[in-house]
Amino acid sequence: GDRSAALRARMEQRLLGARFRYLNEQLYSHSSRDAAQLLRSDPETFALYHRGFAQQVQRWPQHPADSIISYLRHRPASLVVADFGCGDCRVARGVRNKVYCFDLLPLCPRVTVCDMAQVPLPDQSVDVAVFCLSLMGTNLHEILAEANRVLRTGGILLVAEVASRFEDVGTFVGALAHLGFKSSSKDLSNSFFYLLEFTKTGSPRPWRGPPPRLKPCRYKRR
Ligand code: SAH
Repeated sequence: GDRSAALRARMEQRLLGARFRYLNEQLYSHSSRDAAQLLRSDPETFALYHRGFAQQVQRWPQHPADSIISYLRHRPASLVVADFGCGDCRVARGVRNKVYCFDLLPLCPRVTVCDMAQVPLPDQSVDVAVFCLSLMGTNLHEILAEANRVLRTGGILLVAEVASRFEDVGTFVGALAHLGFKSSSKDLSNSFFYLLEFTKTGSPRPWRGPPPRLKPCRYKRR
């Protein structure tokens, strides 16, 4: 009857939530390489991750990708963009720019499947590199160094991340300075996410010591 259908729907919702949170933890506690293997070996789980992600973001007053879109629309459409961890290509669909979309598995036909620590683009070939809620692995220095490699000098790095992931924005900005990026603008006004803009000043310096970290984003049980 209706009641058992409702109960079943609720249970499925709970299970989806639990699997999403588990996967989310995996992505934050492994290198991007390991995460790539994990997800590639289990595409169904990956699809589930994305459903969980979409449900979470729907609850926010604004999708951070829309801030990136608005940023790009205020600049020349001739700028070439690389979207690291593009998900369903919301950014690419929202602008007229050429956008290279990278993710572990293809949620849409524009995606080039790869680990974002190693993208198939030549050195200095893009004007803007985007990370929208996608700085996840334990090797953030490698991922950001890869963005540095493909960006032309003077090019722009845009990071949109959940506000609560930053222990201290200054520390993160310091790590990026070491990786060849100068902070050029910070929008910390949104209570859910920060939008940080950096300019590529040069090549990354070799990284010593523990990699830069952002706190994992722990989604609440609903
Ligand atoms: N930028 C999109 C999706 C954010 S979810 C949006 O804002 O809607 C984070 C995305 O990063 C997921 O699609 C996930 O698959 C991707 N991702 C995580 N680790 C990755 C890696 N090592 N290489 C490529 N993509 C990765």
